[in-house]
Amino acid sequence: MNLGITSVPPDILDHLPVCVVIVNRDTVVYANPAAQKLFEAANPEEILGHSINEFIHPLDQQRVLARVRRAEEGPYTNPPTEYRIYTCKRNLVVIGMTSTTYIFQGEISLLAAFMDMTERTAMEARLRETDEQFQRMMNTMQDVFYRTDAEGITRYVCPAVKQVLGFSAEEIMGRPAADFYPDPSDRQVLKEAILREGFVRDFPGQMRRKDGKIIDISISSTVILDEEGKYAGVEGIWRDITERRNLERELERRATTDELTGIANRRTILEQLDYAHKRYLRYRHPLVLFILDLDFFKRINDQHGHIAGDRLLVQLVECVQHQLREIDQCGRLGGEEFIVILDETSVEQAQEIGTRILQTVRNRAFDIGIDAPIHITASIGATCALLSDRTISHLMERADNALYAAKDSGRDRICWN
Ligand code: GH3
Ligand code: MG
Ligand code: MG
Repeated sequence: MNLGITSVPPDILDHLPVCVVIVNRDTVVYANPAAQKLFEAANPEEILGHSINEFIHPLDQQRVLARVRRAEEGPYTNPPTEYRIYTCKRNLVVIGMTSTTYIFQGEISLLAAFMDMTERTAMEARLRETDEQFQRMMNTMQDVFYRTDAEGITRYVCPAVKQVLGFSAEEIMGRPAADFYPDPSDRQVLKEAILREGFVRDFPGQMRRKDGKIIDISISSTVILDEEGKYAGVEGIWRDITERRNLERELERRATTDELTGIANRRTILEQLDYAHKRYLRYRHPLVLFILDLDFFKRINDQHGHIAGDRLLVQLVECVQHQLREIDQCGRLGGEEFIVILDETSVEQAQEIGTRILQTVRNRAFDIGIDAPIHITASIGATCALLSDRTISHLMERADNALYAAKDSGRDRICWN
């Protein structure tokens, strides 16, 4: 019978570094030294004459036998595949095998060539496992993991980005990371910070959502270097901290502003005065301080109640602020006493501003929730900073004395000291 099958002399097979076995009627009739070694056979008899089923993992037996039958039927080469086999020492090995029809000692047989794939398979399994773990982690992460290349193009971003930015990961990957910053130069600032230290932790930033809203983010990232140590991009995590930042802003607002009137509270305005005073000592630009106190305010409270008095205070602040310039600072010292800081302002300019404030207060009809509008006046104690003032308490004391003089001399006026 000529099936057109070439027969290779077995002594060549003996020298092949690839494992070769020949199987006839499911029995191993030949195994080259490489195969004996892989099978951990102490001598050829541990393999030869044995059924292949002894060596094949039960879960793979059916597949193997189907291929043997196929090759026996006529010249046919089975494509490469992987099997699990047991060695003579009952160790499990994964082999990559291809087999073909072969005439051995005049009989139709199967010649199988194979290699040990255990290492590769184990490595692949480990890789797969690591990759699955990575994907699982990425899919469940609340924070956004990202990676950009040296050109700043986003190469990877995890699915969580959709919840935070509104863009899907696919919409972002392949685009410059800077596209998602409200100010693209922020991205450059971040990159420089990362390059300086090799990493950043809790670096503040902002991003623009798909709906246009700006969110506050906190970024922790590290630089990626290639094998030659050249910059290859950055990777890291960022999280939406808008809520936290809003809370912080709100806490800061509460800590620095007066609850009733919304202007700077006592501590803040005194800090601002201290800062202005230090600038004055350094640059010597004129600095003026007002302490403003309402006249006979106690009567308002007594006649109309504390709540009505509060309403008046709110409107008074509007009144005063309306007369101030953008650089002027106004704060509540306490009760119905206020501070106005007029930086880089001469006595003449300040006198003008003060007079205007008193005039507006005097002419204003305050609506404090009673039938008739209320009229009130205020007094101002004014002073300008002197080089001999070592601390702001010297300034404050002079302004306080000036206020006392204003009250003493008939109220509704500005006095200087
Ligand atoms: P003067 O012209 O001498 O300043 O008379 P005055 O009645 O305004 O006296 P003073 O400034 O000493 O009185 C402050 C009064 O302001 C005492 C209190 O009844 C009232 N007051 C202080 N803080 C508040 C506040 O937060 N709300 C209200 N409604 N009243 C306040
Ligand atoms: Mg008063
Ligand atoms: Mg007072």
